[in-house]
Amino acid sequence: MADGILIIGGGASGLMCALQLAKSGKSVTVLEKNERVGKKLLATGNGKCNLTNVNIALGDYNTHLVKDILREFSPQRVIEEFAQLGLLTKSDSEGRVYPYSESANTVLNVLLRRLEEYGVNIVCDTLVEELTPCGGKWKAVTSKGEYVGDKIVFACGSNATSGLDSLELMRRLGHSAVPLRYAIAPLSCDGLKGANGVRAKVYASMYINGKETMGERGEFLFKDGALSGILAFRLSSALARYRDKVESCKVTIDFVPDLSQAQLSEFIYSNCNVYSPLEGILHKAIAQNIISQIPMDRSWVMSRKKADDLAKACKAFEVHILDVGSRANAQVACGGISLEELDMRTLQSKLHSGLYCIGESVDVDGLCGGCNLHWAWASAMTASKDMI
Ligand SMILES: Cc1cc2nc3c(=O)[nH]c(=O)nc-3n(C[C@H](O)[C@H](O)[C@H](O)COP(=O)(O)OP(=O)(O)OC[C@H]3O[C@@H](n4cnc5c(N)ncnc54)[C@H](O)[C@@H]3O)c2cc1C
Repeated sequence: MADGILIIGGGASGLMCALQLAKSGKSVTVLEKNERVGKKLLATGNGKCNLTNVNIALGDYNTHLVKDILREFSPQRVIEEFAQLGLLTKSDSEGRVYPYSESANTVLNVLLRRLEEYGVNIVCDTLVEELTPCGGKWKAVTSKGEYVGDKIVFACGSNATSGLDSLELMRRLGHSAVPLRYAIAPLSCDGLKGANGVRAKVYASMYINGKETMGERGEFLFKDGALSGILAFRLSSALARYRDKVESCKVTIDFVPDLSQAQLSEFIYSNCNVYSPLEGILHKAIAQNIISQIPMDRSWVMSRKKADDLAKACKAFEVHILDVGSRANAQVACGGISLEELDMRTLQSKLHSGLYCIGESVDVDGLCGGCNLHWAWASAMTASKDMI
């Protein structure tokens, strides 16, 4: 038993919150169900940890309600915060920020070192089973006994990948949660055949219920029956936000975004063999999928019509999306604690004084590219600022 501030969940948001509070002299206890804290953090960015993105914009998130938080806790602020922990970072051409070491371990290590220095009490292998307000304080009933705190921070993340859905703890306190949908995941589709493992830099437009909802350049990784890669992950977030309203979804792929259709048609007409017309332009597996969609006659000559049809198919190849990825292969869950029940300046519950909700546990999700960890840090800094 120890008074002070209790943080439920030792992930990215919980650890950052603990650090900010401890720096200002608060007594902090982190309760974590796993045998160690920061497990998901180690898996981020393919083990390299894309911790924020210098180009983050409000439109990268599912809600404009995070506007004030993003303005105060900008990518630059997060980078400076980590610099003060001794973490050197670098960014790539798309603004994604990584530790200079390109190892997520480095990020976790600098956090843990400071948490130790500031005397944060980290208690692992401890599942929080119930949260109850009692006499102006908060009680956490855990698999290993009870903890009491003056304030409590709910930082349990989501159950994307292999986590536990702890939102029930909040429901029992009267909070409502937007049902979880999974994103930053491959899109299952009726797509390309025989192109497993092939990558292509394309422009893709996504149409939901017939309406164009997103168009972006980026890279797809084709899998049997699925679109993967960063571009698919970004589209998956946009799709997940439509929730149950999706009646149809298709993605139109422009495989040659650097040429207009007329330029491509002219190139094919002037230079390409009628029997393997795309062999010098696209990966063989992709070319075969495109050609199989076009009725070709057996004549020996390349006609203007054939060149036009091929160019059109290269620039508007249609794939029908069947589903967004499952919990097991998703990097985030959209949904979570309803924002209407939180004060969006502090992330304190409007239902219970002294209860704060941060990170992925709340109904905030961002596109692939550092937005979700950025939210974890920014929300942690917001809540801790209010408690200091
Ligand atoms: C494979 C993968 C790669 C990713 N890569 C990136 C990336 O490069 N960039 C990016 O921005 N985002 C990335 N993400 C998303 C990002 O990791 C999450 O958005 C972020 O970790 C959320 O932080 P959090 O603190 O809210 O939750 P988490 O990191 O999930 O932490 C929650 C913690 O709470 C604990 N917990 C849950 N319930 C209880 C309970 N009842 N009692 C005690 N403890 C509990 C959990 O064990 C966990 O440790 C990735 C996600 C995955 C899965």
